[in-house]
Amino acid sequence: MTTQPTTNCPDIFAIRSDIPALAREVHGKPLVYLDAAATTPRPQHVIDAINHYETHFPANVHRGVHEFSGEATAAYEGARRSIANFLGADAHQLVFTRGTTESINLVANAWGSTLSPGDEILISALEHHANIVPWQLACERTGAELRVVDVDGDANLHIESVEEAFTERTRLVAMTAVSNAIGTVTPIAAICAAARSRGITTLVDAAQAVPHMHVDFGELGCDFMAWSGHKMYGPTGIGGLIAQPAILEAIPPWQGGGDMIRTVSFESCTWNDIPWKFEAGTPNIGGTIGLGAAVEWLTQIGMGAIADYEQKLLHDAVKRLRSIDRVEIVGTPASRAGAISFVVDGMHPADVGAMLDRHGIAVRAGHHCAQPILERFGLNSTVRIAPAIYNTAGELNTFESSLRRIIDVFG
Ligand code: PMP
Repeated sequence: MTTQPTTNCPDIFAIRSDIPALAREVHGKPLVYLDAAATTPRPQHVIDAINHYETHFPANVHRGVHEFSGEATAAYEGARRSIANFLGADAHQLVFTRGTTESINLVANAWGSTLSPGDEILISALEHHANIVPWQLACERTGAELRVVDVDGDANLHIESVEEAFTERTRLVAMTAVSNAIGTVTPIAAICAAARSRGITTLVDAAQAVPHMHVDFGELGCDFMAWSGHKMYGPTGIGGLIAQPAILEAIPPWQGGGDMIRTVSFESCTWNDIPWKFEAGTPNIGGTIGLGAAVEWLTQIGMGAIADYEQKLLHDAVKRLRSIDRVEIVGTPASRAGAISFVVDGMHPADVGAMLDRHGIAVRAGHHCAQPILERFGLNSTVRIAPAIYNTAGELNTFESSLRRIIDVFG
């Protein structure tokens, strides 16, 4: 995983013109979309790929003997190969799910069934609720314990703190690669290496990493990696879990139904091969094909070029926010991707967000489904901006001047 700079500068105006939603006006103002951490807008290439499936071969996969079904299966499994390849894995390691939340729940239920009372699961203070609640439920079911590694006062997660928290009973380290609320990039590869050297299983929440940097499952060295398609320019309702094949072979299926079995009788069943053993029922075929197209779109721009450009945007945005009186940035991590959280002294984040919306500027205000990390900083809500590859310096300028005006008039 790297945010290292590259030399190629992407054509931002060409990228913007690929994404129809960015041409919209909101409240009579040109849209400035600064909410990529919630979801990224869809490129035309993705919309076209979904449309093509729905228009020309809207059939189910794997089961049909007819031409339509063959075409749907070829497109669906072709998307699996290209998405897996994009993320440094083989196709048989990639289980399609609805997204990060479902992927983590799959692991918490299937792998989690191997937990015993007193086993420990280690997460960090930065986690999204999707990487907290499934483990709390798994602990309730099995008697395992959830332990949390804190961050420092700048919201950095240190490898030393993680290592100090390891005990004889640590069975799983489940941590985020990038915090959605603060933007902290964690030393996740080092954490995975340290855990593995002690025989501890690892899960990486890569939801906020995959849209912003080159992420390679093999290089990360983890056992499970969860992510969502809609945060990487694909449609909603599709994402995945990439895992070590031996673990996928060993753990039981999570959901039962069609397609995940080889044989069924009233007495017993045998399971399909991986990854289909974990894909019960009709999958999100159009969404998967759309996500395959999103990966093509990202590959064409280049993840190195995206990381490089977005780092410049983030530096620019931090500088602008720091220059405004009464604005305080929450967390100053040494390495940041995707998001900046801030508060305005004397104003509620929800009011700031709603007023920015009147200026056509889309931000997120609230707890960002990461209440514990906000509480860690004595807050229950922040304003979050999440710039991405399609944003321009001009848009950051509009954001800055609108925020200044809001604070002057209402603050
Ligand atoms: N983890 C992180 C770090 C996230 O940012 C999100 C989405 N905000 C999730 C998990 C959950 O993703 P989804 O809602 O797509 O399942």
